[in-house]
Formats: sequence, C-alpha cells, structure tokens
Amino acid sequence: MKSHYQILIIGGGTAGIMTATSLLSKNKKLDIALLEPSQKHFYQPAWTLVGAGAYSFKRTEKLTHKLIPRNVTWIQDYAIKVNPEQNMVETKSTGILTYDYLVIATGLVMEPSLIEGLPEALANGTVCSNYINPEYTWEVLQNFKGGNAIFTQPTTPIKCGGAPQKIAYLAADYFKRKKIASRTNLIFATPGSVIFGVKPIRETLMHVIDRYQILFRHHWAPVKIDAKQKKVFFKYTGEEENECILTKDTTLQEESSGNTIIELPFDMLHLAPPQAAPKFIRESVLSSSSGWLAIDHHSMQHKKFSNIFGLGDVADLPTAKTGAAVRKQVPVVVTNILHLIATEKISDKKYNGYSSCPLVTGYNKMVLAEFDYTGNFTPDPKLKQLLIFNSDKEHRRLWFLKKYGLPYLYWKKMMRGKEV
Ligand SMILES: Cc1cc2nc3c(=O)[nH]c(=O)nc-3n(C[C@H](O)[C@H](O)[C@H](O)COP(=O)(O)OP(=O)(O)OC[C@H]3O[C@@H](n4cnc5c(N)ncnc54)[C@H](O)[C@@H]3O)c2cc1C
Repeated sequence: MKSHYQILIIGGGTAGIMTATSLLSKNKKLDIALLEPSQKHFYQPAWTLVGAGAYSFKRTEKLTHKLIPRNVTWIQDYAIKVNPEQNMVETKSTGILTYDYLVIATGLVMEPSLIEGLPEALANGTVCSNYINPEYTWEVLQNFKGGNAIFTQPTTPIKCGGAPQKIAYLAADYFKRKKIASRTNLIFATPGSVIFGVKPIRETLMHVIDRYQILFRHHWAPVKIDAKQKKVFFKYTGEEENECILTKDTTLQEESSGNTIIELPFDMLHLAPPQAAPKFIRESVLSSSSGWLAIDHHSMQHKKFSNIFGLGDVADLPTAKTGAAVRKQVPVVVTNILHLIATEKISDKKYNGYSSCPLVTGYNKMVLAEFDYTGNFTPDPKLKQLLIFNSDKEHRRLWFLKKYGLPYLYWKKMMRGKEV
C-alpha cells in the first residue's frame, strides 16, 4: 500500500465520510485516503430515541466499508501522532503516512475519569448513559419503580449538548404513561446557568419542565459518584445557594475549599460523561489552549498550518457539537481545499456557526433549536414545506422528522456527500 496521499482524512465518522464523499463528488480524480479504525459506523442522533425504547439500536448501525466510496482508500488504523511540519501522520500499525492536505475529523472521546467514581459506576451499571450504551438506558428506565431519577451533564463541552435533557423529558413522559410519576422526583441538574441558550427555545422548554414537574437545578456540576451507596455529589457553582435545597434527602456540606457540595441519593442516574479531544490532538501543537483543534471559526483552516483543516466534534468552535453542524461545515472545508489545490488560496466561503438540536420533549413531541454563532434562533425556511411555521414550539411533525426524516437525510444525503 502506498504511503503518500493528496488528501488524508483522519476519522471516518459523520464528518470524515461526508468530507470524503463530497470531495469526490466534486472531483473524481482526487487521491484521498481515510484513516478510520472502526468496522462499524453509527447514526448517534437516534441513540436518544433508543434510550427511550422508541428506535432500534440495530437501525443506527452500518458497516463502514459500505459508506466509503470505492475510489477512497480506507486505511483501517488509528492515527497516533501528527507531525504537521513534515506533513506526516504516524499510525498505530500501518507506519507513517504523508499528505499534501490533511483533514482532522476524529470526533471526541469520553473521559469518565474526570468525575470521581464514574468509571466504576458505568462499568457496574449503577449509572446509565445514552452516550455509551443507549440500550442499557432503556433497560434502566423499564426497571425503575419510583424514587429519585437524576439526569445530569458534566462541565466539559459535550456532543449534542441537548441530549442529556432530551432523555430526561422522554423519561418523564414514560413515567407518566407508566403511572409512576407521582412517586418519582425527576431531577435535571446542569452546571449551566439556563436550560438552553436560545431564548425562544428556552421559553418552550421551561413550560415542558413545568408540565412534567421536573426539578430543574442549574449551576450544579457533578463531581463524584458513590456507586455502592448510590449517591451523586454536585458542586454548586452559582450564587443563590438556597436554591440548592431539593428534597428531604438532600444534604448540603461545606467543603474545606468553601464550595458547597450537594449529596443526593439516586434510584436511577443518567449522565453524559465528561468529553475531550483525543489525547494525540489535545497534547499536540495542533490544539488550542482549551485542548480542542485550533481552527479558524469561519474558514475551518488550521490556525497555524494552512494545509490542515478540521471539523466536527474535535474542533474548537464556539457552537454546539452536532452532526447538523457538520452538515454545514463540510461544504466550507471541501470548497476551501479545492480552491487551495487550484489557486493556492482558500475561497471566501464561510461557516457561520450553524448548529441545531432536535429537542425531543416527549413521545411524539419535539422542538427544533437552530442557531448560529450569534446564538439567535435561525429556523430553516424549508420547514414551512412540512407545514411547520414555529419550530420553537412542540410539534408532532417534528417528532416524525426526528424519527424518519433526519435518518433518511443522514444516510441518503449527508453520507453521500450531498449538500442539504
Ligand atoms: C446520544 C447522542 C445524541 C446525539 N444527538 C444528536 C442530534 O440529535 N443531532 C445532531 O446533529 N447530532 C447529535 N449527536 C452528535 C453527533 O453524532 C456528532 O456531533 C457527530 O457524529 C460528529 O461527527 P464527527 O465526525 O466529528 O465525530 P464521529 O461521528 O464521532 O466520528 C469520529 C470518528 O473518528 C474516528 N477516530 C477517533 N480517533 C481516531 C484516531 N486516532 N485515528 C483515526 N480515527 C479516529 C472514530 O472511530 C470515529 O469513527 C448526538 C450524539 C450522541 C452521542
């Protein structure tokens, strides 16, 4: 196998495959290699539905080789080091690869060890997570008989920032249907200050929270899990400490550091684990001070190395890490690489920070948050064709979009490199 490629892509997830197929659709003669270790590719957005028993896990999975076009060389291996000065990528077992242009699309990694006790709690099934095993979440929901059901998220950036609350709403709906809502304290605790950053969406979600009588706690950062005692500990990071008082079971303690620690027993706990860029990126010259891939927010070009581009979850961008964001980032990366090849300059095509979060608020209900770097609500005008004129409100049609429309868009359009 040769070792030099015109374009080398690291990571064959949503961003890597869409970039490869889109590049090829523009120019069949490009010499592209995709470095991706995994035999299977997953449509992760449907894992929220899997966790609530509303979608089959099997349907989220496809074999990687079926998605990679024939003219792209698939190197089934891991990148372990990038040497951008030499245009080289070191792999785990294939040796050194060299490139003219490099695209970094490795996604992110789960770092459960950043919360004390979490690795053990996940390993022994005390805690469930749609980010790791959504089928197990569904098992836990079905076995839940009442008590404290806690849903939370870490202080690190995470992919699909809305996913931890979506499963809380689905669980609330499920408990209501199962008639155990009256003997359940459903708590949604976030280190953030609000339920969602986009105003009209936030207003709808606060009504949803009221409807389900969810105990919403902000400024709560999970710091420790005691799997044996089934207790979770939060650090309260806000000012209004009296808001912490939750139930009779809640214990407030003063840490020696002066931080307030809230101790809460749970009967079920769903958690998004802390997340980070893969180690070989965050510990390299390619990362920014925050440890994510340092790229220009609009051109997607690396800040120091002009023949390197990055996109997807690994990128240091001030917007939500989602597949929907990838959909709008790929055309920018592709156009800029093609322009660079043809003219030695990038184009003036720019990514505006678009991202979206399909906030499922119950079985058959959804709100669609779409926004950009400004944080303003920017609904897609095409929604009107589906007779949805106010996607900041709950709709049954949006649920169908989530369950049927978006998976179709993903497999048939995005994975085939079509701009949508
Ligand atoms: C529970 C959940 C719900 C979600 N809901 C939504 C949603 O509703 N809407 C939405 O738009 N998005 C959602 N997302 C997020 C979406 O799936 C991701 O943002 C998207 O997949 C990011 O694409 P990516 O290519 O950056 O990363 P990924 O798709 O994760 O792909 C990264 C790839 O890089 C590979 N890789 C990693 N390290 C290396 C290495 N060293 N060498 C070579 N290859 C490597 C991996 O094997 C992987 O295939 C959700 C995610 C989860 C987990």
